[in-house]
This record gives sequence, C-alpha cells and structure tokens, in this order.
Amino acid sequence: MIPSDLVQEACLILTENATQSRLLIRQYPKLHIMPWFLWLQAQWQQCAILDPSLPVLLSEHQQNQLWLRCIQRNQEPRSDTKALVSLAKSAYQLKMAWDLKLSEVLLEQTQNWLEWQEDYLNECKKNNFFDEWAWLWCLIDLIKSSVDINFQKLKIPNKIAFFGFLEFSPAQKRFMDVLKDKDVIVENINLDKIDATRKKINFSSSEEEMYAMVAWAAEETKNNIKRVACLVPDLNNKKHEIERFFFEKEKNIYIHSKEDFYNIPLVYSALTILKLLRYQLSIEDWSYLLRSPWVGAYEKEKYERLKLLETLYEKNEYQFSVKQVCELSQSCPDLLLRLKQISFSRKNQILSAWKLFFVEILSVMGWREEIKLTGKEQRVFESWNKLLLEFERLSFLKETFFLKSALEQLHTLVAIWSFQPSGSLDVPIHILSLHQSVGLKFDAVWVLGMQDSVLPASPKPNPFLPLNLQRQKKVAHASHDWELRHAHRLFYALNQTSDKIIFSYAKQNEVEELEASSFLSSIEEIKSPDLYFNFKKEFQKDENQFEYYEDDRGEELDNVEIRGGMTALKEQSMCAFRGFAYQQLKTKPLPSIEYGLTPREKGIVIHRALELIWKELKTQERLIKMPLEALEGIILEKIDQSVMKIVKKRMSLFNSEIIFLEKKRLKKLIHRWFMHEKNRESFSIHELEKSFEVVFLGLKFTLRIDRIDCTDSQRYYIVDYKTNVLSVNDWLEERPSEPQLPFYAITSDLPVAGLLFGQLRSDNLGFRGMGLADDKILKPHTAQEWEDQLKAWHQNLNGLIKALKEGDASLNPKEGLRTCKACYLQALCRLYDN
Ligand code: SF4
Repeated sequence: MIPSDLVQEACLILTENATQSRLLIRQYPKLHIMPWFLWLQAQWQQCAILDPSLPVLLSEHQQNQLWLRCIQRNQEPRSDTKALVSLAKSAYQLKMAWDLKLSEVLLEQTQNWLEWQEDYLNECKKNNFFDEWAWLWCLIDLIKSSVDINFQKLKIPNKIAFFGFLEFSPAQKRFMDVLKDKDVIVENINLDKIDATRKKINFSSSEEEMYAMVAWAAEETKNNIKRVACLVPDLNNKKHEIERFFFEKEKNIYIHSKEDFYNIPLVYSALTILKLLRYQLSIEDWSYLLRSPWVGAYEKEKYERLKLLETLYEKNEYQFSVKQVCELSQSCPDLLLRLKQISFSRKNQILSAWKLFFVEILSVMGWREEIKLTGKEQRVFESWNKLLLEFERLSFLKETFFLKSALEQLHTLVAIWSFQPSGSLDVPIHILSLHQSVGLKFDAVWVLGMQDSVLPASPKPNPFLPLNLQRQKKVAHASHDWELRHAHRLFYALNQTSDKIIFSYAKQNEVEELEASSFLSSIEEIKSPDLYFNFKKEFQKDENQFEYYEDDRGEELDNVEIRGGMTALKEQSMCAFRGFAYQQLKTKPLPSIEYGLTPREKGIVIHRALELIWKELKTQERLIKMPLEALEGIILEKIDQSVMKIVKKRMSLFNSEIIFLEKKRLKKLIHRWFMHEKNRESFSIHELEKSFEVVFLGLKFTLRIDRIDCTDSQRYYIVDYKTNVLSVNDWLEERPSEPQLPFYAITSDLPVAGLLFGQLRSDNLGFRGMGLADDKILKPHTAQEWEDQLKAWHQNLNGLIKALKEGDASLNPKEGLRTCKACYLQALCRLYDN
C-alpha cells in the first residue's frame, strides 16, 4: 500500500480520512501517519504556541454556532435554520477550497448567503477567530513568506506523501505547490495496479444481497483468508441494518462508522435526567427515568418505582411536574430525596456555568452511580466529558443563555457528536464506506449496492453558490461531468482494494426495479451464486446443533385467589401464556394516555350512573310511570355524581370543555337506554353490582355482577353492561373471549334463565343475549337446549380453569397472529423467536 522507499524514509503520510489512518497505523506502526485535517489543526497548535496573536481556530461546533448566529441576525425566524447552517457553511467551505470569486449577477439566495458570510467574517475578524480553511490559506502565506514564523518551527518534514485522495481542491494544490517551492518533497501515493479477479452478482432484493454478503464474509474468513472488507455505500445510514445482519451470523466485525451518540444508554439517560430541569416531563420520559438503572438507588426501589409509574399512567395525564411526582413518591424515599434537591434555575449565564449546574444535577440524581461501566461505556463516558468541554467552549462569544437554550445547545451538540467505538481493529471483517477504502488492501472484498444510482451519483450543487460558477470551476458534486469523472476514479480505486472482488446489486427495492451500475458492464456475472441459499442451509445446520426442551408450564396452583376476578380467565382464553403471565407473573398492560376520559373511565361512569339510577327506580314499573322530566333530572344528577368522582382524581379535567361534552353525550345515551328498558318484559332489579366468591377446581374467583333482573315469571337474567360491540356467538366457542357471564351462569345459586350483554353505544344500543325463549331480546333456547348449553359451558370453562390451575404457559393465541397483534406481551412471550 505504501511504497517501500517511503517506509524507509519515514516520511509523513497524510490520509484523506481517519479510517485510512487508523488501518494504516496498524500496518506501519513506525510511520508518522495522520488524517490531513488533524495535521492541519496540529500545525495551528504549534504556531499558536509560538505566536499567541494568531487567531483562535474555531472548532466545527463553534463554527456552526457562529453561522447560526449570523443567519438568525440577518434572516426572519425560520423552522429550517439548522439546515441552512449546514448549507451556508458548506457553501463557504467550497468557496474557500475552490477559491471562488463571485462576480456575476447573483440570485437572491446567494445575496442572502453573502450577507451571512460577511457577518461571519466580520465576527471572526472582530474576535480574532478563524476556521480551518482560513487557516489553510494563512498557512500557505506563512510558508510562502517564511518570515513571521520560522518555517522550521512549523515542524514541516522534508517529505510528505498524500494517501487515499481521489481529488485535490485548488486550495490543497496551492498548499502542495508552496511546499514544493520550499523544497519539501510532496507526493501523491498512486494506487498499486492490481489485476483482480472480479465477479458481479445480482439479487432479487437488498435483504438477500446483505444475507449473501454476510455469508460470504463468514465463509472467506473460515478459509484462511485473514482480512476481508465489505464496502457499503451510504454506510452511516445503513449501519444498523448491517449490524443486525452480521449479528445473526458473525460478530467478529468492525464497522467504521460513527455511532448515534444520542441513543447510547449512558448519554440518553443523562439527557433525560437533565429534562427534569424543564420542570414538566412527558409520561414517556418519566417512564424511562423510573425504569432506568442509570438513576441512583434503582436496585433498592425498582419495584416501588414501577408501582409509581403505574400510578402515573392511571392518572391519564401527558405530563407531570417534578412536584406532582414528588407528591406521589412516598414509597420511593430515595427518589423523592433526589427530586426534592433539584433546583430550577432562571439564571441567564454562560455555558460553562450551565455545565457545572448540569453535572451537579446528574450527581444529585445518582446518574451511573450503580452501574459498573463496561469498556465501551467507559469510552462513551470519556467522550461525554469531552462533549461537555466542547459545550463549554460554545460560549466563545461570551454569550449568556437561559436554561431552555442551554439545554437546546447541549442536545444539538449531542446530535452531531462524532463517536467512533475504539474497539479492536484486529478483527477479520471490516465494514467500510466506499471512500474510506481508497488505497487500502484486503485479502477479499465485497462491494455492496452497486446500483446505477450509486455510481455515478446524481450531482448536488450547493444552492447558495451560482451554478455556472460551480460548473465552470469544477466544484465537487456540482455537475454530471464531475460526478462521472469522480465515479471513474472511485471505481478504479475500488478495483485496487484486493485481487478478489465481488460487486453486488439488488434488482428491486421497495418501490422500483433497479439496474446495475454501467461500470459493472464488462465484469463477469455469476449466474447462480447460491451464496444466499448456502447461508440458509448453514443456518439450519447450526440450528441442528441446539438441543430444545419444552418450557411452557408455570407453577401448579391450588387453593389460591385468582387475580382480577374474571380477567385471568379471559386472558387464559385468549392465549394460555397470557393467562399464566397475568396470574403468575402479575403482568398487566400500561394504560394508554388519552385526552379527556379514557374508554375505561367512560365505562366506569356509565356503570356507576346506571347503578345509582336503578337504586332509585328499583322496578321497570316505576320507570314506566315516572314522568319524563323527573327521569331526566335523575339521569342528569347521577351522571354528574359519577363524573365528579373521576374528576376529583384528575384535576386537569376540571372545568374542561371535554367534560361538558361528555356529560351531554352520556345524558343522551342513558336516556335512550331507559327508553329501551321500558319495552322489555316486566322485571324488577334483584341485585345491583353484587360481589361474591366462587371456588372452582380449588381456585378462588371474586366476581362482580352488574345486575340481576327478575321477571314477573320469576326468571333470573344476568346483565353485563358493555360499551364495546360483542357477539353472543362467542359464548358458543370452546374458548370464549368473554367468559364471565357463562361462568356466572354455571356457578350461580339462582335458576338463571338467560345472559344479557347490555350494549351502551350510540351506534349499537340494546340487549344481546341468550336464554330461555320467552324474551324477544334473547337468542332463544328451549329448556332442554338451555340445559345442554349450561353443560357445554361447564365443560369448556372447566378446561380453561384447569389449564390456568396447571400453569399452562403455551403460546396458543386464540385467533393466531390476529390475537397476537393486539397483545401487549409480544416481547415477553418471544413469539417471534419461536
Ligand atoms: S403475543 Fe400471541 S403468543 Fe404471545 S402471549 Fe400474546 S397472544 Fe400469546
């Protein structure tokens, strides 16, 4: 890779990117190898020591900050200002790198950009700052003159070789020329010409393509090939997908791509803790904090914190203040103590003061106190500390910030922070982007995603610079010509990465058919690669090495109280695992947060209002005789009482428009309901909201019946109010989804003549049920049929309760994937692993 004469002369090697430096250093530990941009910074540091009047070199983040400020000062507020920063900065860098002179008639956006640039340059001048491009031109002048600073003291070696560059900008060429004028030997290391064996393969989808690449890499490294590379266009965006594919098969890899710093648990937990300073946090953030081992005393209080979280969800609020949570945290004394120490600063101060404050808050909340950091976490922590230093440096203009903007600054910095896990590079499989691989050598290479849209790519000229000027000066990515020339160079470089190369492409993506890049036209196509299928077979082979054993039974239950009345049985009926998890693991779904009353609360209000109204009416006869106005008065009063009971628990609903509308809706619904009740066979209320216990197969069930009616002919009907639509045919199934009424029927002391769902919905109101055939609302049965039906229920429910008792935990969703889709236990039951 590096010619032997350069190795012997120990010259300085400057690489185009950091990955090339990292991999070269492993191979040539004695050589002085650095990425070009880091070397430039090092030169500035060197000069700044000798000449303190030299402008301060702004970091990338400081430059962003300055551009943002200049744009905001010269522009109406816009939602996409952050995107403008990136484009404006990039336009400036292109102008500097290609030494562009803007003289022609300019479009409005260019004029705007020129204003921002002028402001940016004025700020730099006023404060004695510069950026890396201004520094490069300054360095060119310094070397040229060699007067202000002793050229030797710049520590520029006698020989510099550039490695892995496909193209040099005019500024870089100028720099190389002035070095040559000063008798420095400057070289661009040419790529070795390799006569590689090249094949191309197509796949019907990019998923198959990736499977095949992973299989190939694993296979190659088994065959004594020491180092293979998988080259992936747009690696930063594909990183997670690639990781997932490799994770299944081969973990011995190194992905040369920066990590998403924000989502690393150590960082995410710190940022979520700092959100406490906003005073109000969303339920999702509280949910994270209360379940997070990164918050102090988690082990001691984890169960109590889960209970607290459940309480928060039950309150059905989107946000909770720290004060509200403190009031509910009595069972979590450690958490309470920590939350109470959080002070809410209204100060307007520089970022270094905010940094100290943030560090203090993290310490108060016991951040990472109980976590023993792994090697990687230790590196993340070090990077987090560097990030805080950079955060502090963002106050370079001595600006002060309120808390909200200080937190925004921190979040922005985290979002663009570059963190490369520095794991061992001594792994056989390296995943790189196409450009990172230029100049490097591997024993075998697979180049993924060689579609025609990738090579050559479409041009992306900068919108702030005149298009003609960009094309005329051959600015990077500005024209088709540039892209085509660049693609030729890149393709040539890819061909020199190994003497064994596979190029692959998919023929289809989610939306369209794809073509191979025209650069592959002369490469032999492997007709039946079979790689993907070998890989599948190999997976099956691996699977055969495992031993499996059935583990679908929990503890056998005897003489125990069944949780939640009929809920356990209902869950068991939907899926045995759900019944087991509900009863034995005490699972239950977290309620979803809704505006106004939740469906559950609406159900409670209806139940309560009907109970209170019937307590006054007692019989259908009184209902019929009662004047309409009086009935409406009772309905209104009882709805009010029922709603207020909920509102007292959730003060945020107080005075709300939603409650007013809800009451209006309920009044209409319940009024309709009582009109419906008037038309039934004459009855009186036998029981209302009655609770009782039943022991069945040694298990104790606590039941609650909404209502039992008794007709004039002394027949008893059990009523269950429902606000959702249900079919009574469900009761005829072996595993009824709503087993409660059949269970009441077979365990009741009363001669039950029928079961009724009282369906209260504006679009579907009335009774649905089954029983003896003297009521027109029932699905009719003769006495014998009813007897047989009761026996069938006895047998079916006996089967379900037996399974619950035996701790059956098998995965047997009642309606297959349809049941699973609506189930909250997918992650726990590991359905998708089976
Ligand atoms: S996801 Fe399906 S298999 Fe798993 S517990 Fe739920 S219903 Fe049963």
